[in-house]
Amino acid sequence: MDLATNIENLPLVGEAYADKLTKLGIGTIDDLIHHIPFRYNDYRIITPIKQLQPNEAFTIHGTLNSMTNIFSKNGKRMQIGEIEDESGKIQAMWFNQPYLLSAMKPQKKYAFSGKVSFFNKKKVLFAPEHELLEGVDSTLHTGRLVPIYPETRGVSSKWLRSRINFVLKNMDSELDEFLPVDTITDNQLLQFREALHTSHFPDSLDQVENARIRLAFDELLITHLKSMMRKREWERQEISHMLKLENNMIKRFIENLPFDLTTAQENSINELFIDLAKNSPMNRLLEGDVGSGKTVVAAAGSFAAFANGYQSVIMAPTQILAEQHFITLNKLFEPFNARIALVTGTTKTEVIGKTDIFIGTHALIQKQIKFEKVAFIVIDEQHRFGVEQRKLLTEKSEKRKKVPHVLTMTATPIPRTIALTMYGDLSLSVLNESPKGRQKITTWVVPKEKRKGAYSWIQKQIDTEHSQVFIVCPLIDESDSETMKDVKAAKAEYEKLQKIFPKLKLGLLHGKQKAKEKSEILNQFKDGTIDILVSTPVVEVGIDIPNATIMMIEAAERFGLAQLHQLRGRVGRGEKKSYCLLFTDSENEKIQERLHAMTHTHSGFELAELDLQMRGPGDIFGTKQHGIPNLKIATWSDTELIKKTKEVAEEAIVDTEKFRKLYERIGEKEIAVN
Ligand code: ADP
Ligand code: MG
Repeated sequence: MDLATNIENLPLVGEAYADKLTKLGIGTIDDLIHHIPFRYNDYRIITPIKQLQPNEAFTIHGTLNSMTNIFSKNGKRMQIGEIEDESGKIQAMWFNQPYLLSAMKPQKKYAFSGKVSFFNKKKVLFAPEHELLEGVDSTLHTGRLVPIYPETRGVSSKWLRSRINFVLKNMDSELDEFLPVDTITDNQLLQFREALHTSHFPDSLDQVENARIRLAFDELLITHLKSMMRKREWERQEISHMLKLENNMIKRFIENLPFDLTTAQENSINELFIDLAKNSPMNRLLEGDVGSGKTVVAAAGSFAAFANGYQSVIMAPTQILAEQHFITLNKLFEPFNARIALVTGTTKTEVIGKTDIFIGTHALIQKQIKFEKVAFIVIDEQHRFGVEQRKLLTEKSEKRKKVPHVLTMTATPIPRTIALTMYGDLSLSVLNESPKGRQKITTWVVPKEKRKGAYSWIQKQIDTEHSQVFIVCPLIDESDSETMKDVKAAKAEYEKLQKIFPKLKLGLLHGKQKAKEKSEILNQFKDGTIDILVSTPVVEVGIDIPNATIMMIEAAERFGLAQLHQLRGRVGRGEKKSYCLLFTDSENEKIQERLHAMTHTHSGFELAELDLQMRGPGDIFGTKQHGIPNLKIATWSDTELIKKTKEVAEEAIVDTEKFRKLYERIGEKEIAVN
């Protein structure tokens, strides 16, 4: 067993726990020990029972006199224990934990930590942590600074604490230092082993931040190093097909566009074309807010390949987006007689004839299609695809280890520092400007008491302005993809809304519907048959429906700002004034502040930055949704550390011998040797 071992194999973990732990991003033992506390309960002082004060954190040492199971007035099972020390007695109570009766033995000495509350006018310990004192040399859950971790259903801090303690105690030889001595001293870092012990089980709070810095240093360093390694590996490859780019050719394409390009689009197309003309493969990321017009940049690249007699492949995350691209590119390429094929799950491979541009979903990877002469690949909304899928698509287009140019596109406004760290291997183009004539989307935060009023306002807008409305249902699970619970919630909401808007035509859209059903509903929404489209939160990122002008989001507090911004971007695509209504029942000040940022900030980049600042540590709910890569220990505001670790990574990529142990740690043993 070493740190890279699957967490399932750690004693007392097993498959069921391993499943739950994936929700916390823990897959290996190494992940587990890097799951660090976000706060500590100070249970260091041992208080005599007589001196316990209500609402204060305490630890007592006492003998358990008795333990009984009773039923409360409302039929709940309660466990009552009586504890005694030299100064007095007190009752402890738990709800619904009958196993405590066999777990705790009367007449033995225990430590209890928690808070004192009042019950029937008596002081009691309510659900304290307990720990046997006999036969142990130190306590883990009581009588110390007790670490509190980000938890998930079925995985408590207590459980995490005990498993982490087990690893630190029993796998000590795995915790040897892996950074060179001068890296440690130059950056005044704690030793790896010490940083872990201090972070999980500190003696005092003074060193906790230093411990976090050391672990954050590792995390950032490894992130930098990995992207540098990917870059080097990419650059070592040869280009599969050389493209010749002539000015006239590009002009022809641009003159045929139904609109003038924005300056940002012009710049991005220029950057793209400079890369496409090189004889080394491009690996470029195009970042641009929803509606900033990324598709036409991709189309320009496809045109360059087409004009040279080569193919291109455009992969979108959903069938609807693929269909949308298919329609768009057919229009843009109409004067040029390009052959465009749509490839989705239902496409029969036999019917795909000679093709210049393949547009499709991940079916592009799965189907037996021969990519004969692919020179250019586009991956749209890349955060919906794993790195793995991107690799598969590229490999499929390889010719004897030679690769095509790759353009990745994302609507997630990734701040520059982050992009350079996480995607340091990619060149970056940014569309930071929206096409002319777009208006700001007026945004309101709607509290509970104004819900009725909002519904009648919507009805009025539909009656007088013929508006069309998106209603996005709450996010139920913290999962990346849609769950059955999400679908159920959306159905319930749809039924409720039909009663509220009896005269209107409503549509329901969710991921469990068949593709055909989905496109029918979307077409009805596009042609105006449907007034209100109710959908699950994760459905279809980039659909383009210029007539829709109202976006209403339920339980908005459950989304990250960047994601709210993306949802909002589905309206405001036409000339008409658009609105976004954020519903929330929460009166929490922080949540209100966060949501109100949406009313005055309209830049996706600014919102993404704010999101990062406003999310506290340990706040992991919904981070996946907001699309920005998540750091576990470092934060994106550690700018100094990001800079320093980049320098060290640059040293490590050259001097592999000096950093041999680091390479071993990240599982790149071959590099370490050569
Ligand atoms: P993105 O993929 O970045 O969210 P799209 O490429 O789908 O955005 O473009 C959104 C809409 O804006 C489309 O209807 C597109 O035709 C239109 N559009 C793109 N560029 C321009 C432009 N320069 N001027 C006017 N409209 C544009
Ligand atoms: Mg798009």
